[in-house]
Amino acid sequence: MNIKVPEIPSEIIKTLKSRKKHMCVKKDGTNSIPSCNEASVPGMVTQRSCVYGGARVVLMPITDAIHLVHGPLGCASCTWDIRGTRSSGCELYRNGFSTDLQERDIVFGGEKKLLETIIELNQIFEPAAIFVYATCVVGLIGDDLKRVCGEAGKITGSRVIPVQSEGFRSVNKSLGHQLACDALLEYLIGTEPPQNKGNVNRKEVKDHNSDHCLNILGEFNVAGDFWAIKPLLEKIGVSIQAVVTGDSTVEEIAQANLAQLNLVQCQKSSRYLADAMEELYNIPQIRVNFFGVEETSSSLMAIAKFFNDPQMIETVEKIIETETETVEESIAPYRQRLSGKKVAVYVGGNKAWSLIRAFEELGMEVLLTGTQNGLPEDYQRIKETVRDGTLVVDDANAMELARLLGKYKPDLLVSGAKEKYLSLKMRIAFCDFNHDRISAFAGFKGFLNFAREVDRAVSSPVWNHSPQIKPPAKPDILTAKSIGKKPRKEVTEIVQGS
Ligand code: SF4
Repeated sequence: MNIKVPEIPSEIIKTLKSRKKHMCVKKDGTNSIPSCNEASVPGMVTQRSCVYGGARVVLMPITDAIHLVHGPLGCASCTWDIRGTRSSGCELYRNGFSTDLQERDIVFGGEKKLLETIIELNQIFEPAAIFVYATCVVGLIGDDLKRVCGEAGKITGSRVIPVQSEGFRSVNKSLGHQLACDALLEYLIGTEPPQNKGNVNRKEVKDHNSDHCLNILGEFNVAGDFWAIKPLLEKIGVSIQAVVTGDSTVEEIAQANLAQLNLVQCQKSSRYLADAMEELYNIPQIRVNFFGVEETSSSLMAIAKFFNDPQMIETVEKIIETETETVEESIAPYRQRLSGKKVAVYVGGNKAWSLIRAFEELGMEVLLTGTQNGLPEDYQRIKETVRDGTLVVDDANAMELARLLGKYKPDLLVSGAKEKYLSLKMRIAFCDFNHDRISAFAGFKGFLNFAREVDRAVSSPVWNHSPQIKPPAKPDILTAKSIGKKPRKEVTEIVQGS
C-alpha cells in the first residue's frame, strides 16, 4: 500500500528557491535523494549543531571519564549533559568541565591553562581517562592539543585523549562523529591501561574465551535503551564486551578489539568505527536495529545466524514467538486508536529510517521524514525504508517545518526539543525521540513504552479543546529593505515567496 500524499507544496519550495533540491518525494525508479551535506543556505536559520557537538555526543556517555572542553565556557555549557544517556555506575561523565578561555588566553595561548586544568582535574576526580575537546577558538589560536595531552598523560599517568573537534571543520557535525571515533581508535581501543595508574575504576573484565562476545557500536543508552537490549542478548547466550558508548567504561572500550563481532546500531555515528575495526582487528560487523518488534526480531536472528549456533537460533525463535505474542496482545488497544494516523519524523540520521517500521507496526503512516545532518548514505537508507510518496527533507528550518506541518497535517511530529513547541502550538501531538525522552524504546518491552507514549500524545483529549495556531502565510521577518539596505537575493526570495 502506497501512502497518498500531495506533491511538495509549491509555496514551501518557493519560500527559498535554493532549498528546493533539499526536498524530494520518494518515487520508485527515481533518484529520490535530496541534496545534503552542504552548507546551509544563508538566512535560512539552520537548526544544526557543530563538529565539536558531533564529537561530544558520541564520547560523552563514557561514564568514568572526564570530558574537558578546551575553549570559552559557552561551548561546554551548550552541550552539558545533552545526551540523556544513563549510567549503571559512575556518574562522572555528567559533570561539565571547561578551560573557560578568556581574552588573555586568546592573546597569549591556552596551553598552560589546559595543562594545569588537566592536572588539577586528575588530582580531584582520579578519572579513568580525560577526553579533551578542541573548539573553534582553540583551532584559531593554534594551541597544540596533542602535545599538551601527551605531556599531561606523562605527568598524571592517566589516559589523556585529544579530540580534534574544532567546530568550524565542517558544515556537517557528522565529521565530529568520525573525529570522536578517530580518538577512540588512536588512543584507546587495543591499548593497555597506563602502568602507573593504579586507581583505574574497572568493571569486571569480560570472558574473552566466550565463543560469542560482541560489541554494540552506536548505542548510547538514551533513557536506558541499552538496558532493554542487554537481557535479550544475554538470554540468547552472547556476552557484551563494550558498548560504544552508552553506559560504558574506559577499560571496556579499550578492550573492544577482543570481541568477535560488532553490532552497528546507529550507523550514522558508528559505521566509520566499525569499518576501521574490521580493517584493523578483523572484526566483522552486522547492522542491527532494536526499534520495533520486526526489527528487533530480525536483528536477534541475524546475530544467531552470524554465530551459526543451532541452539542460539532455536532460543531466538522461541524469544521471538513469545515476545511477539505478548507485545501483539498488549499493543492491540493502542493500534486500534493509532491505526491510520499520520506521522512526520524529523530527527537525527539514524532515527529517520530506524523508526519507520515501528510506526508501521502500530498501523501508522509516515508522511514525511528528514534530518538536519544527513549524509548521502543516510538518505539512501531512508529511501530504501520509506514507502513511495513519502516526503524527504534535508536541513529544514523552523519556518519550512511549520509550513510542512501546516500543509501535511500529521497527527504526530517526532523530533527533538527544538521542534517541540512549534509542534504543540500548531496543535500537533509531539513525541521526543532525541535526548530528552525518559522512556526506553528499544527491544520488545521498549516497543510497548513507545506505543504507550505515542498513544498518550496522539490520543490526548487536549487536542479537542485547544485552538490551532496556523503558520504565517509569509514569514514575518525584518527585511534588509525595511532597514534601508539593498536586500540580498536570497532574502528577497524568502520575503516575496517568488
Ligand atoms: S566549537 Fe565553535 S561552533 Fe561549536 S559551540 Fe564552540 S564556538 Fe560554537
